[in-house]
Amino acid sequence: MRLNKIILHGFKSFADKTEFSFEDSITGIVGPNGCGKSNVVDAVKWVLGEQSKKSLRSSQMADVIFSGSSKRKASGMAEVVMIFGDVDGEGSELQITRRLYRDGDSTYLMNGKTCRLKDIREQFMDTGVGVSAYSIIEQGQIGQLLSASKKERRMIFEEAAGISKFKAHKKEAQRK
Ligand code: ATP
Ligand code: MG
Repeated sequence: MRLNKIILHGFKSFADKTEFSFEDSITGIVGPNGCGKSNVVDAVKWVLGEQSKKSLRSSQMADVIFSGSSKRKASGMAEVVMIFGDVDGEGSELQITRRLYRDGDSTYLMNGKTCRLKDIREQFMDTGVGVSAYSIIEQGQIGQLLSASKKERRMIFEEAAGISKFKAHKKEAQRK
């Protein structure tokens, strides 16, 4: 599985539809302070279901919607689309979308069909992709990993080894 593209529209400072293509194995995003680099990382977390306002550097969920500038009026909706390629080793694509409207309405889509956040989480479980999975390493997290407890470190290894999904299913079955 590889990340091919991220498309932002009305998300934070990206009022216009903006597409990022990740064609090479390593892509760096550079630019002056305040140009929106961290907003791209926020978009990745948001589309994967981030619910924490603090983690998104917002005080309200609607703060992710473009709030307008002196030259432009605010957007009514924020949308982030993330496109993965080679999902099954046979070249198929996976597209996930999250939308939020100013009136609070919100939707998740998988390959263009409405789905639940749970479906998105399930899809990425054990792939290392996810809001709190190891594929997103933010400032300060290396230190956290080094000083993590045995239990926390085990959770990271379990995700990498691909057994988190089974553990989640077992927990759900035991609740029923
Ligand atoms: P640094 O190099 O300082 O880390 P950066 O490139 O990571 O900067 P970001 O934090 O991604 O910058 O972007 C901050 C900018 O995004 C600010 O100018 C802020 O006003 C703008 N911004 C954040 N949310 C919104 C929003 N909802 N609408 C419009 N602009 C927004
Ligand atoms: Mg930044």
